[in-house]
Amino acid sequence: MNLHEYQGKELLKSFGVPIQEGIVATTVEEAVAAFTKLQADTGTEAAVVKAQIHAGGRGKGGGVKLVKNIDELKENAGNILGMMLKTPQTPGGVDGPGKLVRKILIAQDVYAPDFDACKEYYVSILMDRESKRNVIIYSTEGGMDIEAVAEETPHLVHKEFVDPTLGLQGFQMRKIAFNLGLSGVAFKGMTKFINSLYTAFVKSDASLFEINPCLKTGDDRIIAVDSKVSIDDNALFRHPDLAAMRDTDEEDPVEVEAQSFGLNFVNLDGNVGCMVNGAGLAMATMDIIKLSGGEPANFLDVGGTADAERVEKAFRIILRDPKVKAILINIFGGIVRCDRVAQGVVDAYKNMGNITVPIIVRLQGTNADIAKVIIDESGLEVHSAILLQEAADLVADVLKKA
Ligand code: GDP
Ligand code: MN
Repeated sequence: MNLHEYQGKELLKSFGVPIQEGIVATTVEEAVAAFTKLQADTGTEAAVVKAQIHAGGRGKGGGVKLVKNIDELKENAGNILGMMLKTPQTPGGVDGPGKLVRKILIAQDVYAPDFDACKEYYVSILMDRESKRNVIIYSTEGGMDIEAVAEETPHLVHKEFVDPTLGLQGFQMRKIAFNLGLSGVAFKGMTKFINSLYTAFVKSDASLFEINPCLKTGDDRIIAVDSKVSIDDNALFRHPDLAAMRDTDEEDPVEVEAQSFGLNFVNLDGNVGCMVNGAGLAMATMDIIKLSGGEPANFLDVGGTADAERVEKAFRIILRDPKVKAILINIFGGIVRCDRVAQGVVDAYKNMGNITVPIIVRLQGTNADIAKVIIDESGLEVHSAILLQEAADLVADVLKKA
């Protein structure tokens, strides 16, 4: 689950990480009040108005603006609130429709009073599956597109691997500050920054922290100016305060609906809808769809209890996607019997009444033979198969006709 910048900063602050202070607003009036309060609380003169959407690159898209007074604030807050912000990370990229900005963060200008004396760094933490460790990735080339830095000047991107049992060691924090070319107060500030950032990462069960830029101010303070935070969904039950930060407005509406039914669903770009039980089988199914010339339109794991009701819900979710030209149902009947799933498919098909795309059902396991009879005798445009390859060939056939 991704957090907004302002939520990520709240989380960081609670672990003692110094942040660019800000107040979130949803209207121009709230923005004005926020600006006034921020000036009183922090002594800042100017402020930055920052669009709060789940995508980076906002600055380049016009979603981050420096304002020096109330009039500029009103103008920019008015422009940014309600805009469709396009960045390389919004759906479809800069040529896509963009994302609606519902909230803005009014943040203190931490680059003042001497913009040129400031220096931007890049710091992120994530889990590295290969080394089975957390890795801190950092660079002197902050503020810009880190992917480009990694491609053009890979020697400027450093990695520090952290053993999860030992935790982050003092020498590692000092090494990072040293490699960033810091000394004196800023060196010390950076070691403390990295230390509290790492603690926050571990304690919040995060899967990604990205602080870009991490700023050294003119007076050598180290501050998180931006925050991208993802929390591991599977750990959210341990963090009700973070779970409450979920913003479903920012998520794929079909995925949100699927989640409310307990279906494990991910939208993809292809033309073959998949309904499968078990994540491993779902992956194998997607592979074989690709091998037989199709492209999976989604990943959908209906889980262990594939009864008629669940099958129907999954159908409805898959059919919501106009790109779907065929549906492949691939269920292994271990705990759930194949004949019950087959009946579920037939019932759901009849219940919905308006299904026009061909459906290929492959049921294997307990009572697979009875299931095949149920499907074949249903009189519906549902093709049955027992072998996975048979099912894939049927998919290829119907795609050719489509
Ligand atoms: P992103 O474009 O979505 O990554 O948004 P960021 O929060 O990283 O902000 C983009 C850029 O805005 C930063 O790299 C800074 O150059 C600029 N910026 C952010 N905060 C301030 C600020 O307090 N003062 C000034 N002058 N510029 C800022
Ligand atoms: Mn940024």
